[in-house]
Order: sequence, then C-alpha cells, then structure tokens
Amino acid sequence: MYDVIVIGGGVIGGAIIRELSRYDLSVCLVEREHDVCMGQSKANSGIVHAGFDAKENSLKAKFNLLGNKMMKDYAETLGVKYRNNGSLVVAFSDEDLRTLSELKRRGEANGVDGLEIIGVDRLRELEPNVSKSAVGALHAKTGGIVCPYELTIAEIGNAMDNGAELFTDFNVTKIQGKFGNFEVFSENGDKVSGKIIINASGLSGEKIASLVGDNSFKIGGRRGEYILLDRNSGNFVNHTLFFTPTEKGKGILVSQTVDGNIILGPTAEEVDDGSTDTTAAGLESVIAKSKMMTENPPLYNAITSFSGVRAYSDRHDFIIEESKAKKGFINCVGIESPGLTSAPAIAKYVVEELIGKTLALNEKQNFIARRKPDYFFKNLTDEEKNAIIAKDPAYGRIICRCEKITEGEIIRAIHENPPAKDIDAVKRRTRAGMGRCQGGFCQPYVAEIISRELGIPLEKVTKKGKNSELLSGRAK
Ligand SMILES: Cc1cc2nc3c(=O)[nH]c(=O)nc-3n(C[C@H](O)[C@H](O)[C@H](O)COP(=O)(O)OP(=O)(O)OC[C@H]3O[C@@H](n4cnc5c(N)ncnc54)[C@H](O)[C@@H]3O)c2cc1C
Repeated sequence: MYDVIVIGGGVIGGAIIRELSRYDLSVCLVEREHDVCMGQSKANSGIVHAGFDAKENSLKAKFNLLGNKMMKDYAETLGVKYRNNGSLVVAFSDEDLRTLSELKRRGEANGVDGLEIIGVDRLRELEPNVSKSAVGALHAKTGGIVCPYELTIAEIGNAMDNGAELFTDFNVTKIQGKFGNFEVFSENGDKVSGKIIINASGLSGEKIASLVGDNSFKIGGRRGEYILLDRNSGNFVNHTLFFTPTEKGKGILVSQTVDGNIILGPTAEEVDDGSTDTTAAGLESVIAKSKMMTENPPLYNAITSFSGVRAYSDRHDFIIEESKAKKGFINCVGIESPGLTSAPAIAKYVVEELIGKTLALNEKQNFIARRKPDYFFKNLTDEEKNAIIAKDPAYGRIICRCEKITEGEIIRAIHENPPAKDIDAVKRRTRAGMGRCQGGFCQPYVAEIISRELGIPLEKVTKKGKNSELLSGRAK
C-alpha cells in the first residue's frame, strides 16, 4: 500500500512526486506511456514566465509568481539548465501600447518585480533583429527559459533516487475504493493500492476524475505548433519576444531555447482528439508571425517542427484541490501555461497544504536533493574529458555528431532513473538526435546501444514505445 499514487508523469506529477520523496512516505507514479514526459510537458515553449499575464487573484497568477522565483534554484539543484534571459512583449500599434500598460499594471498587482515599458530605441539595442515596425515593448527582467523535458525527467529521476517507484505503460482505466484504500487499475489489469491519489494526467484529467465520480470540470485541448531552428541561429534573438496577448493566449513567440536553438510558435487551434500532428496551415502561420516579429528570421535553419496540446479547464484557471466527490483524490488539472513555470510551487502547495493535512510529513534524513546533469561531456575541459575517458572509454566515442553526445552519456541515460528504454527517451535525456541531422546519422547506433544494454533484440528496440519498432526483421 503506497501512501500516495500520482497519476501522470508530466512536469506537474513529476514535481509532486519529487516533493513527496523528501518525506518518509511510500509513493509511486503511474504513467500511461513507455516513458515519462510524453504529454504537454515535452512539447511547449520552455518559458519561465514572469507572471504579468495571468488574471489577478487567480491560481495561475499565484503559482506563476512563486514558481518563477523558485525556478533558478530548483533547476540548478536538479542539474537542469536555466537562463534568466528576460522577455519582451513587443507592441506594433497604439492599441498594443495600451495593452502593455495594462500588462504592466497587472504584473505589478501580481507581485512581479522589474517590469519596464521601453521605447523603440532601447528595444532595438536589446534586440537588433526585432521588426522595424515595432514601436515599444514591456521588458520583464525576471522571465527565463528552461528545458521542459530535461526538468520533468530530472524531477522523476531524483524522486526515484529517493525511493519513489515508477510504473510506465500503466494506462489507468479503473479506480475503486476510498480514502485510505484506493485501488488503481491499468488497462492490462495491473493494480497499485494507495491512501491518496493525485490526478496529474493532463489532457486525461477529466476522464480520470470521472473514474471516481467527479464530473465537476471539463478539459479541452488546444494545439500549438512550432518550428525549431538549428543552434547556429542561436543569437538571432536573446530575449523571449511575445506579441501582445489575445483571448486565446499569449500568441506566437520567438525565443532562444536554453540549449541555444531558436523556437518559433506556438499556434492555438482547438483539437478534440489530442492530436499532435503539425499542419501546413499551422506552420505557415508560425512563419508569417515570425516574419512580423523579426527582420529576416533564418528560417533556412529549420531542423524540425512539432506540436503540443494545452489542457485547459472550463474554469479558465488551474484546478488544484481535493475532489468534492471523493475524499483523498486530489485534482491537479487544467494546468495549461504557465504550468511549467508554476510546477515547483504547485508541488510544494499540494504536498504541504493538501497532503500534509492527512499524512504526517517527516523529512527523510538521507534525502538526496541534487542530481547530476544528464549530458555534460562536451562542456568539460580537455583535461576533465581525458580523465573520464581514462576511466570509461565509452566517453571517448561520439555517437551524435551534431550535438557531440558520447556513448558514455547514452549508456548512463539507459541505466539511470528514470531509465531510457527507447530511442526518443535517449534523445530527450542526452540530446542524441536533436541536432541538425535529427538522428539521421546516430539513430542506428543508439538503437544498437539500447539493444546491447537492455539485452533485447535490435528488432524490439522502439522509437517511442508500443508499435514504433524501427526494424521488421533481419535482411541477412
Ligand atoms: C503549446 C504549449 C506551450 C506551452 N508553453 C509553456 C511555457 O512556455 N511556459 C509554461 O510555464 N508553460 C507552458 N505550457 C504549459 C505546460 O506545458 C503545462 O502546464 C505542463 O506541461 C502541464 O503538465 P502536466 O504534468 O499537467 O501535464 P502533461 O505533461 O500532459 O502530463 C500528463 C501525463 O499524464 C499521462 N496520462 C494521461 N492519461 C493517463 C492515464 N490514463 N494513465 C496514466 N497516465 C496518464 C500522460 O501520458 C502524461 O504523461 C505550454 C503548453 C503547451 C501545450
């Protein structure tokens, strides 16, 4: 019997299980997919929002501000890259300028420090490639960037290093029992029992809540499509550049990623089925908006496109509360943007205020707070590299040429917590396959390493779990 079962291995479930693992509690996380971080946490903009966007007195405003303040230390402790690059909401008209004043007022009411409306000369000093049509901007100095999947994987890995258990390929389809003795079943008939359940299942939040008779909210899906530019475009912009927001959200942005790529997007289209396809129309609109925001964006450096689906609630705010229909069942749903930013603050609240009401929170004496970065080798000095290679020659073999990722790092990702069991899982942990050739060169080598390390035939190695085998059989 676990004290707490977390359903959903995204950044919210990940932050919660990591926070829980500080305490003398037995906890587990169940995830439908073959790996963690397979929902909206893997495909978003990676922006640590300053907090001027959310409506005053909303949960979004509260947790955005707290999460923004926590993120630098949180990421550093978990060995995850974070950069305080600042953000600029760019105005193109008098109406936009009025919106900037409102955003500044709202941000200050939300408690955001360092907001400043700047004129076009200062804007151009900060961002020489901004569009010639820009007339001013709101500068938010506390905005930042972080890698969302690196963060989620690190949270769950650190929780596992501290005793939490992870069950992947566990698609929750039935829940029975009550507070103190819940039973959670997967579609395969697997079962875990626990005293408290956290519903952090993203787009499935409504469906999972309905399994305990909670039909108090609806979750919709709004897809966002992106284009990613190669790292050699890295300095095209330094800040995150936003358009002024509309009813549908923050609109398309142009930003650096924390790994030095340029990200363009996302669009906002309602989708019923959670489809993460990209569309010609969506990508065209990303291109058109990027050209409105900046002069000559280096679109020839595009290396991939992708999309993520925001899970928004009909309450138009985060839902973070014990269900009124079922004691001991805690909903953390409708966590659309700024959910990534808010994750550490949401986790602290859920554990200390909601779970702490019913379970004793005794801190573990041997809690391991820190985690080593997943990929690190290329940033070492030659002396440091040589010392590691002398101990383990696998670090002397580059597997991903574009990102300079070594075999040693890939082997480590396969064996560390949470283990990488397929090609995309290795990619999210190590960046092998994230570069210009998008795995064209390294994918077969990565597949061979997975096969060897996990002791499975090469034909059984998958790209991303069930039904994504790369090979159908041996030709010779
Ligand atoms: C396009 C886009 C851009 C965004 N940009 C930003 C940004 O720049 N900054 C920011 O702060 N936020 C941003 N967000 C919001 C942020 O990504 C989300 O708030 C956050 O990822 C939500 O995490 P989650 O854990 O709630 O959901 P998810 O990451 O979706 O995790 C839910 C998990 O539950 C699992 N699951 C579902 N059903 C079941 C089941 N039946 N059984 C077991 N497991 C199940 C899923 O597989 C998934 O892994 C953006 C979101 C999107 C989509």
